[in-house]
Amino acid sequence: VGGKEKFDVIVEGGTLLTMVEGQDPINDARVLISGDTIKEVTTRHEGGPLPETRERISAEDSIILPGLINSHGHSPMTIFRGLADDLPLNQWLFDRIFPAEAKHLNTDTVYWGSLFACAEMIASGITTSVDGYFFADEIVRAVDRAGMRALIAQGVIDFPAPGVPNPKENLDVALNFIETWKDFSDLITPGLFCHNPLTCSEETLRKARDISDRFSVPAQIHLSETREEVTDIEKKTGLLPAFFLDSLGFLTSRLIAAHAVHLNDEEIGLLAERHVKIAHCPESNMKLGSGIAPIDAMLKKGIVVGLGTDGCASNNNLDLLGEMDAAAKLGKVVTLDPTVLDARTVLTMATYGGAKLIGIEDKVGTIEAGKKADIMVVDATSPHMVPLYHPLSQIVYSATGGDVSDVIINGRIVLRNREFTDLDVDEIIREVTGIARKIQPV
Ligand SMILES: [Zn+2]
Repeated sequence: VGGKEKFDVIVEGGTLLTMVEGQDPINDARVLISGDTIKEVTTRHEGGPLPETRERISAEDSIILPGLINSHGHSPMTIFRGLADDLPLNQWLFDRIFPAEAKHLNTDTVYWGSLFACAEMIASGITTSVDGYFFADEIVRAVDRAGMRALIAQGVIDFPAPGVPNPKENLDVALNFIETWKDFSDLITPGLFCHNPLTCSEETLRKARDISDRFSVPAQIHLSETREEVTDIEKKTGLLPAFFLDSLGFLTSRLIAAHAVHLNDEEIGLLAERHVKIAHCPESNMKLGSGIAPIDAMLKKGIVVGLGTDGCASNNNLDLLGEMDAAAKLGKVVTLDPTVLDARTVLTMATYGGAKLIGIEDKVGTIEAGKKADIMVVDATSPHMVPLYHPLSQIVYSATGGDVSDVIINGRIVLRNREFTDLDVDEIIREVTGIARKIQPV
């Protein structure tokens, strides 16, 4: 460290999990941040006296790690949290969620629902999210207000949808969305989200792929979430979903497929060959009784897997720390092998894996010099965090979102000692509570 250099933020003390492959935890760590970038990763011992800094976060008795990446979600759905539980996916979606969306979504509810999701995510250590929904411009505004990093996609479906009453215009809306926001902010990548291979026509899927290619932005889709969906696609097309999508040229390295629960070995092989990325949503899959995605088999084929909460109506929270615990345990129970989806594998999915899924692994996903400063600090002094033998396991199996004390996104401290530095959470909760009052549960 140059003796006279002044840093903007220094995080020091505690145990650092860089999540760089093969790197052990670093005790008594020191992370030096200048502007939006990590300048140096060292220890207090090696780094000598505290260099000059604008702000210092003490991480004594804490674990420092990369900010988490939520690989699949629909942030405005926070306004529907707990609205419809304990139902099969089709009944949940068609009888409860779609009607509620048709009635209650507008620019205002989407903005406040998204900002609310950002607050919940930041408070539990998520610094980047992958989102897809209607009125996506409002999600961009909320994410920008919160100072988060995100891939935000306009939803595409061949039905009349909120904000897109004429389905013939769905791709124009998505295209316009991408053009509007593509150069808006370093933190935000726009994209498009095709709802699924049944609710989007072949023509829509083909054109969506072309748009994704043309702008080099990720496309997303829900893939083989339920067994019923697989059967319906097979009946309609004579092909299994992955092969059907491949026949349209839809399987590319820019595709993020969420859920991917019901796949056979040939489909997994095909997705690997096409470098499709998978967003694993174990809690949503459990809650909707969808099944268990074959994640261990995907990882063994070299598929990039991120971890996602899905929307708040099917989880019902945005706590990726809890999601990691679920992912690890579900992976073991489905293979009857406690060695698979170990703590490092699962934590990698929620950090570097998510970065690779979006295609921003050169910027975030690990803590190392030259990367953008997206960092969280997890307090390890609560009873459920003591003693601390293996920090990595402790994060996956013991920690909850409530243990997160500090969060930095792009060099900016957004959460400090569990307090938001900028967002007015009381105001956001007031707005969302006001919206919820108008939504009548059935
Ligand atoms: Zn989803």
